[in-house]
Amino acid sequence: MADGQGRNVAVQGAARRIDQLGRVVVPAELRRLLGFHEGELLEFCVRGDELVLRRAVPSCAICGITTDDLVDLRDKHLCPRCVREIRAEVSAV
Ligand SMILES: [Zn+2]
Repeated sequence: MADGQGRNVAVQGAARRIDQLGRVVVPAELRRLLGFHEGELLEFCVRGDELVLRRAVPSCAICGITTDDLVDLRDKHLCPRCVREIRAEVSAV
């Protein structure tokens, strides 16, 4: 595993129980190690029989593309192409 600065580290023994609502607290030492901050969007994915938690990569809410020039609108991201298509559809009405 790489830490927030790209260094390879191995962490073991950071066990936490799932509560009644399915929540798990990410241990503070791991949040610090990985540079996870309050409010940051994370995503779960399954790799074999493991659950992986990682930073979510923002993608367009319509086409799903990931690009550096996404436009934020009401907590959603839109790519420039989809913005142009929406504008064209709206202006045609
Ligand atoms: Zn798009």
